[in-house]
Amino acid sequence: MTPAVDRASVYRTLGLFRELEIIHDMVTAGRRMIELTDSFDSHHHHLSCLRCGRHESIEDEVIEQRLAAIARAQGFEPTSHQVQISGLCQACRRGH
Ligand SMILES: [Zn+2]
Ligand SMILES: [Zn+2]
Repeated sequence: MTPAVDRASVYRTLGLFRELEIIHDMVTAGRRMIELTDSFDSHHHHLSCLRCGRHESIEDEVIEQRLAAIARAQGFEPTSHQVQISGLCQACRRGH
């Protein structure tokens, strides 16, 4: 059983967290998800399976440096970025 929660205050709290950049929304495999921002969680990128909805975290220092370099080349001071790769996981690929 889910304990009784006041949905309105939950949404209000989430809105506040969003404003304070504690959380951000991401859409993965067609579902909206809420994730802690990098200031509260270690920075990583995502692989998500479109069939089973499975998630994997990936980290790659080369991508990090490259993205920062690309942003700076455009005169940008990058503060954050998100990278999301969608497709089929190994298990789902084998299921074919
Ligand atoms: Zn899968
Ligand atoms: Zn990154």
